[in-house]
Amino acid sequence: MDLYLTFPLSLAYEPILANIILESKVPISFISIKIHSEGGEGIVSVPDDKVDIITKMLKEKGLQVLSKRHVVIDNNLCIECGLCVSLCYVNALTIDPETLAFVYVEDRCVYCKLCVDACPRDAIKTSM
Ligand code: SF4
Ligand code: SF4
Repeated sequence: MDLYLTFPLSLAYEPILANIILESKVPISFISIKIHSEGGEGIVSVPDDKVDIITKMLKEKGLQVLSKRHVVIDNNLCIECGLCVSLCYVNALTIDPETLAFVYVEDRCVYCKLCVDACPRDAIKTSM
């Protein structure tokens, strides 16, 4: 299961995840990590049967843990320019070649928000 993490800048350069992996011996995969001026956010993948214990350890270290986020397209605002599709490097956003409809596959989305920032119509919103 993917977990969405946010953390303050004071924790951004601490080896928190490395220590949790060593302590718990649970293999945690890094999907994405981003650090900005106010802190950081990232997505990690954790075996389903270890989600509770890893969530507890992350929270004890000061990280906020949420279920994975996703994006939502407002079809009333979208002008079908295709910019979001061209930017989505994991193919979470694609166009069906037969119906020409947008297809969003939540499981592929790494929540980079490139599509959100790029949309000229502000048609893509985050789930939280
Ligand atoms: S970038 Fe915005 S307007 Fe363009 S296709 Fe995507 S959602 Fe629609
Ligand atoms: S947030 Fe990133 S990965 Fe998700 S649909 Fe948008 S561009 Fe693709």
